[in-house]
Amino acid sequence: MDIRTRAVLTGTAKDSQYNSVITPIYPTSTFRFEELGKHKGYDYTRSGNPTRAALEENIAALEGGLGAAATATGMAAIATVLFLLEPGDHVVTGHDIYGGTYRLFKDVFAKRRISFSFVDMMDPEAIKKAMRPKTRLIWIETPSNPLLHIVDLEAVIGLAKNKKAWAVVDNTFLSPYFQRPFEFGADIVVHSTTKYLNGHSDVVGGAIVFNNAKLGEKVRFYVNALGVSESPFDAWLVLRGVKTLPQRMEAHQKNALKIASFLEGHPRVKKVYYAGLESHPQQDLIKKQMKGFGGMLAFELDIKKVPLKIFFKKMKLFQLAESLGGVESLIEHPWSMSHASMGPEGLKASGITKETVRISAGIESPEDLIADLKNALGK
Ligand SMILES: *Cc1c(COP(=O)(O)O)cnc(C)c1O
Repeated sequence: MDIRTRAVLTGTAKDSQYNSVITPIYPTSTFRFEELGKHKGYDYTRSGNPTRAALEENIAALEGGLGAAATATGMAAIATVLFLLEPGDHVVTGHDIYGGTYRLFKDVFAKRRISFSFVDMMDPEAIKKAMRPKTRLIWIETPSNPLLHIVDLEAVIGLAKNKKAWAVVDNTFLSPYFQRPFEFGADIVVHSTTKYLNGHSDVVGGAIVFNNAKLGEKVRFYVNALGVSESPFDAWLVLRGVKTLPQRMEAHQKNALKIASFLEGHPRVKKVYYAGLESHPQQDLIKKQMKGFGGMLAFELDIKKVPLKIFFKKMKLFQLAESLGGVESLIEHPWSMSHASMGPEGLKASGITKETVRISAGIESPEDLIADLKNALGK
């Protein structure tokens, strides 16, 4: 079935008592046993809940996975995947990954006997060089945040497979509508459902999607043991939002392309990063592994001509805020906001500068959005 059909219908038709079209919320912590040793599939909500299970079915169907675990946040999903490792294990990842992921790796797990190599993921040779006998996981984000560097999924997942390491892809930026890492052999796909999957900026959540039953069992064990599963209310909200993912992604992309094209021609903009522009240097890879370009873009602002504070202050429609993937357009300064936790060293390695501005294109009128940018950039 088409992804638009799966998005709307998977995880619904769960109420056989009243035939409600919408999957009910089961806000219960516990479930009554029929008799000793016999229940109806659920015993305690941390371990399993029908509303959460419906969402997990939906997300797994969108990614083409076998199953999924919905977690309280995206970071909860990422931390859970790291718990699959043993002390002494080694991870290879990019130096321009999501700021919170970088912090979790460097300031939490690196202090607990997991070691990390942060490399240029666009260079398979650099990855190969960084791999050690104890490398058990390659952590991939593509496109990268916020500079939209594309990582070759087939090549990098191949490197992981050669060494029997897991290939994990954070697919938050493009969503399964525009990129499906399982088609390239990924072992696990993670999401911050806070972003495009929910799409309405009213919930935080995450997901771990797997397509191997044994790995899935492990993931479920850790989600339950760590207690990071998503609340039924939040799961219900994400299930409501995810139904319009295809239509929203098309709208985000249309606006992002128009905004990027406008910025590219503006004299006070030094450089624009967007996968949908012909100026993006990785055209072949984009065509090979992406079904679209998404709604995220970034640019280098000429801050000598337009001071940052004034630029952001002049914005009327774009809201100065972290996060992304909601229907409203957001704008932010990675250096001091979303990526500040990387520290000066991490920021420098990633290529983010004080002039980098990131946009999450919403679904408002593109003419209104461009007029807002035009005004803030000045003549
Ligand atoms: C936001 C984000 C996360 C973290 O998700 P939370 O829901 O904020 O915990 C992880 N990866 C990427 C790419 C993100 O954008």
